[in-house]
Amino acid sequence: MEKVVRISQIEKYVGESVQIRGWIHLRREHGKHMLFLVVRDGTGFIQVVLRDNVKGYEEVSKSYREAAVIITGNVTEDKRSPYGYEIRAECAKVISPSQPTIEEELQPDSSVDVLLDKRHLVIRGEKASAVLRYTDKLLRYIREFCVEKGLTEVVPPIITKAACEGGATLFPVKYFDETAYLTQSSQLYLEAVLPALGNVYCIQKSFRAEQHRTRRHLLEYYHFEPELAFIDFEDLIRFAEENIIHIVKRTLEEDYKILELFGVEDLEVPRQPFKRLTYAEALDFFKSMGVVIEPGMDIEESKERMLVDHFGEPVFLIEFPAEQKAFYFKRKETDGSVALAMDLLVPTVGEIIGGGMREDDYDKIILRLKEIKANLDDYRWYTDFRKYGSVPHGGYGLGIERTVEWILRLEHIRDATLFPRFVNRLLP
Ligand code: ATP
Ligand code: MG
Repeated sequence: MEKVVRISQIEKYVGESVQIRGWIHLRREHGKHMLFLVVRDGTGFIQVVLRDNVKGYEEVSKSYREAAVIITGNVTEDKRSPYGYEIRAECAKVISPSQPTIEEELQPDSSVDVLLDKRHLVIRGEKASAVLRYTDKLLRYIREFCVEKGLTEVVPPIITKAACEGGATLFPVKYFDETAYLTQSSQLYLEAVLPALGNVYCIQKSFRAEQHRTRRHLLEYYHFEPELAFIDFEDLIRFAEENIIHIVKRTLEEDYKILELFGVEDLEVPRQPFKRLTYAEALDFFKSMGVVIEPGMDIEESKERMLVDHFGEPVFLIEFPAEQKAFYFKRKETDGSVALAMDLLVPTVGEIIGGGMREDDYDKIILRLKEIKANLDDYRWYTDFRKYGSVPHGGYGLGIERTVEWILRLEHIRDATLFPRFVNRLLP
């Protein structure tokens, strides 16, 4: 019985006969008596050479790209092959031969819509699958960081009654006789859990019925949200800095091959403290660049990118006008019109983190809820934290897809998402 190995482990088996199980990624005939294959097994790619005297040659030579195969053969190191190793097949078996139409499915000039329709095939590609594999790594690095920092992971509900980011981007769900919503963020629940577990986090889907089409908005995205008790604004910003540093450091340590595949040569571990601009300072910056933003107005996406691309490194925007921010933001002690909010902007993408300090005073949070005309009964579970042992606390949300988009320098968030959801896109 041959040893079944994963392609990612192949370097350990040079000189040995092994078996790999996967799919024909590429095939090329070399004269009449030899086939070159690139075989993919989900962990990697490897070149396979098949001579016509090998058992199964006939079968393989008649099958198409994406055929499922089992190959047994000897592993050799091959510096000329882009994959570094080669298997000289001794025996091949076709499990399923694929179809000739595979060649028509995707073309180098396929439109974005075709690529999205056939996303299930696109993800078999070298780059698309590398993005998914990197996403898995990123999630590990985030969990690693949280474990190091002593946070506990929880899983809040997705179907909720309370809106936390305003009504405009809510997805309603028919909930028997009531209307519920898909959660826009798990933050409110994380706050409610603080007195039970101390510092907590979740990595969970958030849903936003975003009408605008941008390079960084999905309707359903993966959201890392830490929430920390007994902290001040400075502590929160430092925690976010360490979070980013950990991610970049671990990526450089482990994922250099993926970075190379995407041509990312300039990823550097950012140094603390990151650059910070208050909202007011940001307006001055824009003025110096000849861009006028009326005080109080939102800094829109393209402007954010202009700012962060100018500095070429992660930048915190802090202390926003309170009226721009959700009801739960704590205000600055010396200036009630300023919210203790922070966004982290990174080059090419813009915002990847948004968060801040939460209002921890019972009377103030009730007042804010009344201002947004919320039904106080629906928020009792939330405001009770302020009633029974409130403490200064804060947290943030980090978009997983946006972070992948940044690290791998992807052009669009759709390339960082397994099966993206946009307006008018529900398949696959
Ligand atoms: P934006 O201004 O870009 O719409 P936001 O201010 O609405 O972002 P937050 O509510 O602060 O974002 O959410 C926290 C984080 O979640 C963001 O920094 C971002 O990384 C991510 N995020 C928010 N909305 C989306 C979305 N529609 N698609 C993908 N990621 C998102
Ligand atoms: Mg938004």
